[in-house]
Order: sequence, then structure tokens, then C-alpha cells
Amino acid sequence: MAEPAKATKPCPICGKPSVEKYRPFCSKRCADVDLNRWLSGSYVIPASADPEPDEDDEVPTHSRDPEDDNI
Ligand SMILES: [Zn+2]
Repeated sequence: MAEPAKATKPCPICGKPSVEKYRPFCSKRCADVDLNRWLSGSYVIPASADPEPDEDDEVPTHSRDPEDDNI
């Protein structure tokens, strides 16, 4: 009995085996973390460094302060 027969994906937040009740997460806490990530607009994992490929196909935003033109 090493692994469960079910093909459950690990929790995308912490990597633990997901629980059916909170799929695809392992707990409500991780589900909340994912929800907050979407709500806050920044898909960032604060706790663990996830080696996901970062594909930024969007136009790079200029970090220009608009207040500089208002002087
Ligand atoms: Zn988790």
C-alpha cells in the first residue's frame, strides 16, 4: 500500500494529496489561498516557490510615473 489507486492530482498550492471535498486542493485553506490569488489579481504563491514556466506574452508595461508629467 504505497499509493492510492485513485489518480488524484496533488494540491496546486502546497503539493499535498488533494481531498475530494476540496478538489483540487487538499484543504479549505489552500482553496482560499487560490481564491485569494485570483481575487487579488496577482497569481503569486507566497509560501512556496513553484517552478512553473512563466509565459509572459503580454505587452510589457512601462513603469513610468504619470505624475512626472504633471509638474
Ligand atoms: Zn494544499
